[in-house]
Amino acid sequence: MENYASSLSRLTGESTLLYQEIARNVERTKGIKTINFGIGQPDLPTPQRIKEEAKSALDKGFTAYTPALGIDELRSKIAEFLTQKYGDRISKEEVAVTPGAKTALFLAFLMYVNPGDEVILFDPSFYSYAEVINLLGGKPVYVPVNFDQNKGFYVDSNELLSKISQRTKMIVYNNPHNPTGMNFDSRLGKEIAEIARDRRLILLADEIYDYFVYDGEFRSVLQEPWRDNVIYINGFSKTFSMTGWRLGYIVARKEVINKVGILASNIYTCPTSFAQRGALASFDTFDEVKKMIDLFKRRRDAMYSELIKIKGIRAYKSSGAFYMFPDFSEVLKTAGLDSKGLAVKLIEDAGVVTIPGEVFPEKMGRNFLRLSFALDEEKIKEGISRMKTVLEKLAG
Ligand code: PMP
Repeated sequence: MENYASSLSRLTGESTLLYQEIARNVERTKGIKTINFGIGQPDLPTPQRIKEEAKSALDKGFTAYTPALGIDELRSKIAEFLTQKYGDRISKEEVAVTPGAKTALFLAFLMYVNPGDEVILFDPSFYSYAEVINLLGGKPVYVPVNFDQNKGFYVDSNELLSKISQRTKMIVYNNPHNPTGMNFDSRLGKEIAEIARDRRLILLADEIYDYFVYDGEFRSVLQEPWRDNVIYINGFSKTFSMTGWRLGYIVARKEVINKVGILASNIYTCPTSFAQRGALASFDTFDEVKKMIDLFKRRRDAMYSELIKIKGIRAYKSSGAFYMFPDFSEVLKTAGLDSKGLAVKLIEDAGVVTIPGEVFPEKMGRNFLRLSFALDEEKIKEGISRMKTVLEKLAG
């Protein structure tokens, strides 16, 4: 008999990892090599300078606990960097380094969500937000992300406003957006920040894809003239290909950061010592970041031009992150499948891994599949061509 805490039963366990597992099974049993559009990380190695710095820290014995909020040098560096970038004065005391942005998000929800509290999420959105809110007994309230083949993905801020109730505590704004790959219109961030300020709500801004922008201007919530109610989250995972290093950070008022420190010291003590030293060097690698973004832009273009050759799907050329989120409703209807069924079929019949839109709650994503373009152009072309064969057969 298992006596798990009842909160655990509120987790769906849904994540993008499940489809990787199905792919591994197919590879094993059918002996085919799959092409993986399911990945959520850059395929490039961490820049050499960062690795050298971490190695040197190890060699020098920098292996003990650090302060809970991270080493002073890294907190200062992040504060200076953001101050320079966005013009607003951010101090070291307003920065906490965390083991990944996911942990930063978890702590942010933990600090604010009481049972019954409502949190406004985009539908679709990164699966982990809803899971953590549910775990804490809170309630995700969804505002739809609409799709227009010409305009891309957009959210109506009046619709968002209509979702706010007495119980609303927080709004989560992830831009550029996972899973749609949208760099939202800069007006949206402004409007959401104003709503959060006027209604006295916490604005949790997840800007982990801020360097992955291909079209349009990116606007950070840190550019808004007020940020008393803002919890800003970013990290090293995507920009510097450091997913396995587990380093993220939170920027918020000093009082909030103090609370993060208390939680950190009880949950994980501190972020990994030598990884933090390595991250110090990341600020000197923006030439490499720029090359990576140029490469990703070419890959995005390649994926888009192949995708639009497939009959019955509607795609928008994504403007941010490294995802394309095409609409498969026509194919799904003809084939009598849902997005999960189609994703499994594509793994089994085409050897191509995608992530069904349904994984990103709640229902807007159900006719979509998420495809990552963080892989070689050759593979992108081959993968989409394999999909084309299977999809056209399905369409009859
Ligand atoms: N936010 C979003 C929107 C993400 O897509 C991810 C990673 N998939 C994260 C946060 C977590 O990043 P990290 O590796 O820093 O935990």
